[in-house]
Amino acid sequence: MPELPEVETVANGVHQRVHGQTITSVWTSNKPQTFKSRPEEIAEVLTGSRIDRVRRIGKTIVADLIRHPGKKSQPSVQFLVHLGMTGRLLVSAPETEPPPHTHAILTLSGGKELRFVDARRFGRLSVSTDEYTGPGKDPLTISNEDFIALFRNRKTPIKAALLNQSLLHGVGNIYADEALFRAGIRPRRQAGRLTRDELTRLRTALVKVLKHAIKLGGSSVSDYVDAEGVAGFFQLHHRVYSRTGEPCRTCSTPIERIVVGGRSSHFCPTCQR
Ligand SMILES: [Zn+2]
Repeated sequence: MPELPEVETVANGVHQRVHGQTITSVWTSNKPQTFKSRPEEIAEVLTGSRIDRVRRIGKTIVADLIRHPGKKSQPSVQFLVHLGMTGRLLVSAPETEPPPHTHAILTLSGGKELRFVDARRFGRLSVSTDEYTGPGKDPLTISNEDFIALFRNRKTPIKAALLNQSLLHGVGNIYADEALFRAGIRPRRQAGRLTRDELTRLRTALVKVLKHAIKLGGSSVSDYVDAEGVAGFFQLHHRVYSRTGEPCRTCSTPIERIVVGGRSSHFCPTCQR
């Protein structure tokens, strides 16, 4: 499932290719699961709108639209794309055959098409006139004080708290394990009992690992923003994630795997306390 770095990579790649362009026509597959807003409403809102900016909010790709370019008062409208498990947002030439499971095609004034493809249909498309803010805080922009406050009095293990999307959005299993290793904190520690110093180290580590992953994903994006973006993610050199039994890269102790909150968690028993 795409997490924060993958969604950010896709959003940035799409932004570079489509911002400033007008949507001239919209086709939708009308599969009910895919469309959180009615497909007719999506087509109506998007057609004729100009794409001002494409960005990531949490794990959602948000396109800010200018609905009536040229008019003075601009109603704010957003097109929201959640990739779910298998969703892909592709910028393609119109002569390229749409892949199977294409659910939306936006024809753009620049001559390309923006396509939403989703085999398993856990992805969601919608339009919104309210400014979308998403659940939880963004781990890349939250202040250190706010980060520390998130975990105050929480009795859950820190690993589970990091994955709680209503606290922080976009952090997945890999990044949580990698950040805890870099901060020297065991995944089972009770979140509310971590010291200020430990939480400060954890925030720094989390930001570092997410930015590193975004950088790797971003560097491998080419015309198709899906596969390349995901491939970039695998280039990340994991220190603990999925390395059970392998030597710690810092101290050579074998990496251990435990289950915390139903999720596999990997850590070094020597480096993490
Ligand atoms: Zn170690």
